[in-house]
Amino acid sequence: MANINKHNGKTQHAEIAGAGFAGLTAAVALRQRGWSVRLHEKGPELRAFGAGIYLWHNGLRVLEGIGALEDVLNGSHTPPVYETWMHNKSVSRETFNGLPWRIMTRQHLHNAIANKALAEGVEIVVNSEVVAADPSGRITLASGEVREADLVIGADGVGSKVRDSIGFAQDRWISKDGLIRLLVPRKKKELGHGEWDNTIDMWNFWPRVQRILYSPCNDDELYLGFMAPADDPNGSRVPLKLESWVDMFPFLEPVLVEAAKHQTARYDRYETTKLDTWTRGRVAIIGDAAHAMCPAIAQGAGCAMVNAYSLARELEEIPDVEDGIRAWEKRMRPLTDRCQEITGEYAANRSLSLGNQFTARALETARYDPTRRVFSW
Ligand SMILES: Cc1cc2nc3c(=O)[nH]c(=O)nc-3n(C[C@H](O)[C@H](O)[C@H](O)COP(=O)(O)OP(=O)(O)OC[C@H]3O[C@@H](n4cnc5c(N)ncnc54)[C@H](O)[C@@H]3O)c2cc1C
Repeated sequence: MANINKHNGKTQHAEIAGAGFAGLTAAVALRQRGWSVRLHEKGPELRAFGAGIYLWHNGLRVLEGIGALEDVLNGSHTPPVYETWMHNKSVSRETFNGLPWRIMTRQHLHNAIANKALAEGVEIVVNSEVVAADPSGRITLASGEVREADLVIGADGVGSKVRDSIGFAQDRWISKDGLIRLLVPRKKKELGHGEWDNTIDMWNFWPRVQRILYSPCNDDELYLGFMAPADDPNGSRVPLKLESWVDMFPFLEPVLVEAAKHQTARYDRYETTKLDTWTRGRVAIIGDAAHAMCPAIAQGAGCAMVNAYSLARELEEIPDVEDGIRAWEKRMRPLTDRCQEITGEYAANRSLSLGNQFTARALETARYDPTRRVFSW
């Protein structure tokens, strides 16, 4: 049940573009603080693109903060160990000193937050594309309709129209490597002897660069990430070129055969976006629209959710929207910038292949608890 939020005697209203992890989290957190919220999704239904996702302590605390943690924990998995292999030999086994982390399917996470949004009374409109926004608090939809709000949030992903229509200065770049992401059946028995409940980051640099990130999501589903440089026509090919992967990872053949059955997978390179500022007037840009980052340490969605949740918290303390969102950026931006920097470094240098790369610096964002504004572990 939402609180009653009033500023200058009036209930505050937010219009949000994009029902990804960032937009949904912001919608729930604002609604729980008494805002009326309309969330526009350009797609015809609420769904998450991709296969699996890692969430760390920071993202899990957001889920706890909005009341969706139980739903996410049911049907997801924490591997006993995070292993790194080089040329099929273990180079590190990490447990992060007890820091909580979890793997799940993207749809599982998306469903949990979307269900919470609906239960809290967020108005979700699908087939509703936001094509422009104005710092005075107006959005324009593809239909031509114009809507006004106290707060406009651009959570419309890396190609954000809200951001670009306002003209935020931005740096954007793209990685040399990319990934095909697929969900396949676990096939634990067929894989034979091995610690198949672990995450295993399997690197190969010879005779060519190919990596598989092996990530169990639950008892039935396995998330496989197939990484190869963009200029490798074999490794980046969809559907998978089965022989090329079996050749490098023969012990994974039962699940590779399943992966090669997917006809519609996508090879994605990693995009990075850095803005001069995340706010303009009554408009705040959140998630990948503001700070897309390489997935080296799996923090893009975690940061998106933390910043979305923190935005609602800041506005609870500073109800004047323009002051509140400026204070939010000041509080949250340095942590996100440092995370973006390390993910960029790790991706460029393929540092994770060395093993033992989840250093205190790499885990800084993961250790943040936005519900208490402290670092744990
Ligand atoms: C290969 C890879 C692996 C990753 N792994 C992880 C991981 O393990 N852990 C992690 O934390 N992060 C990971 N990330 C990052 C994570 O996926 C993103 O940071 C996260 O999905 C961003 O969420 P978002 O809501 O900002 O954007 P998006 O997920 O892009 O959602 C944007 C939404 O807005 C909608 N939309 C777009 N334009 C409009 C418009 N004009 N009007 C209305 N709606 C619109 C879209 O349809 C979509 O629903 C990974 C990224 C990649 C590329």
